[in-house]
Amino acid sequence: MIAFVFLLVFLQSLSELYLPTLMADIVNIGIGKGDTNYIVKIGGLMLLITAASVVFSIAASYYSSTIAAGFGKRIRRKLFNHVEHFSLNEFDKIGTASLITRTTNDVTQVQQVLIMMLRMMVMAPMMCIGGIIMAVSKDATLSLVFVVVIPVLAATIIFIGSKGVVLFKAMQIKVDKLNLVLRENLTGIRVIRSFNRTGFEQRRFDATNKDLTQTAIKVNKVMAFMMPIMMLILNLSSVAILWFGSIRIGNEDMQIGDLMAFLQYAMQILFSLIMVAMMFIMVPRASVSAVRINEVIEMKPDIVDAEETSGLAAGSGFVEFREVTFSYPGAEKPALSAISFTAMNGETTAIIGGTGSGKSTLVNLIPRFYDIQSGSVLINDVDVRNLSQQSLREKIGYVPQQAVLFTGTISENIRYGKEDATEEEISHAAEVAQAASFISEMLDGYQSIIAQGGTNVSGGQKQRLSIARALVRQADIYIFDDSFSALDLKTDALLRAALKEETKQSAVIIVAQRVSTVIHADKIIVLDEGEIAGMGTHSELMQSCSVYREIVSSQLSEEEIA
Ligand code: ADP
Ligand code: MG
Repeated sequence: MIAFVFLLVFLQSLSELYLPTLMADIVNIGIGKGDTNYIVKIGGLMLLITAASVVFSIAASYYSSTIAAGFGKRIRRKLFNHVEHFSLNEFDKIGTASLITRTTNDVTQVQQVLIMMLRMMVMAPMMCIGGIIMAVSKDATLSLVFVVVIPVLAATIIFIGSKGVVLFKAMQIKVDKLNLVLRENLTGIRVIRSFNRTGFEQRRFDATNKDLTQTAIKVNKVMAFMMPIMMLILNLSSVAILWFGSIRIGNEDMQIGDLMAFLQYAMQILFSLIMVAMMFIMVPRASVSAVRINEVIEMKPDIVDAEETSGLAAGSGFVEFREVTFSYPGAEKPALSAISFTAMNGETTAIIGGTGSGKSTLVNLIPRFYDIQSGSVLINDVDVRNLSQQSLREKIGYVPQQAVLFTGTISENIRYGKEDATEEEISHAAEVAQAASFISEMLDGYQSIIAQGGTNVSGGQKQRLSIARALVRQADIYIFDDSFSALDLKTDALLRAALKEETKQSAVIIVAQRVSTVIHADKIIVLDEGEIAGMGTHSELMQSCSVYREIVSSQLSEEEIA
């Protein structure tokens, strides 16, 4: 396909190079001898060649656009698929806003240059070299004009181009910035409204927007210089050619037709140089984008499957941490150190601790969202690093701290946990999650639409839907990361009771802040600044663990647990 475009462009250039010679023939021979037949014949040939050239040009345009669009599509798909395999570390590194710009705007930049390259890569050298050959063959002496004009033109191009490239690089970074501000604004609109920060955000957006605009204007100012200067050089060379040409005609060293052809070749040569100039400007711009795309594609996910993955014994959920130490990249001290515990099949293991004590971090290690530095995380006695991510995560019903719903119906959202779930399974999961009652009160029941980001359901409803989504999996291991925090105490208690029935065969790990949520757990782990401060049942911990006693006594007044 690419070769075909090159062929089309080649033919187009060829016909355009041939036309001035034919014209010279008409003027020199036809008009010179008053031969009307000859004029009509050659004129007809010229028309034919022009028509062919137009056809070639249109076809080349069409095919190069098709190629570039296909290329863009493939790169976007590659980016998307690659990013899907990122661990959370890579997302932290590049940032969501930049990932979006890279997948959309940057790909478009590369795509546009590709179209241009496809056409000009063949066209420019052909027209330039072909033009010079033809011009010299028409009149070698007059060609000396090029010796002066071409260096002047090249110098101007390099001067202007080098200024533009720097600005183009700056512009892409500013597009990222704008995207970031816009995204934060759109997702944080409630907070912005409630804190009356609309004005502040507007100014922030305006500043970023203005910054981008000014760079864009600067780039365009520089580029705007390009054309007039080029035209000036072009016109001055025409004057020079006509001047010296007429002298040569006066001396009968040259024919009028040849001068006319020569002038056209001169224009073709200079235009091809301008094309090269455009490429010099566009290519660095696209190369900035290409580098940004490559950064994403070449980023190796931290977490990859082991070469040989071992299978997992079915039907049992048994989680063990052995001396696990983990720190986030760049963090000073470990988020978790020397964590050892087991979460048994059929038991509820609760994790309690202050904010920032490492609870979410701990449970995120079970689905292997991050890799640990030392120790091991085992599921059914197999290290998670020896399992394929797919088979590992299949075992787990995970409810994140931040409930995330997708645009679509309620039933689609629950089915996200298990693709082939039946209607009964879905409504059963919803019932256990205490979501059935509010779903049935909604206008379309299970077919009600969840808005983008789940904004049309309350926080507690969102939590219950994401619990239902995990429950529908019938997983061996359930992880509830602070998933009951937005529920009132009564719903919390109902849910835990229903859950107990449902998860008899599974290991259940519940992260919580409220003592009432964990009080009946088979085992409670008290986390404090990334370390285990105590482990045992409620009554054991009340005796042995001061951190736990503190947590309990701080909540005593609101919940009569004592
Ligand atoms: P908890 O869930 O108990 O409130 P987390 O496990 O979320 O606490 O956080 C434990 C510690 O790890 C905190 O000090 C927090 O600042 C840090 N932390 C959490 N997530 C990240 C992250 N993605 N990158 C770096 N540090 C993090
Ligand atoms: Mg947390």
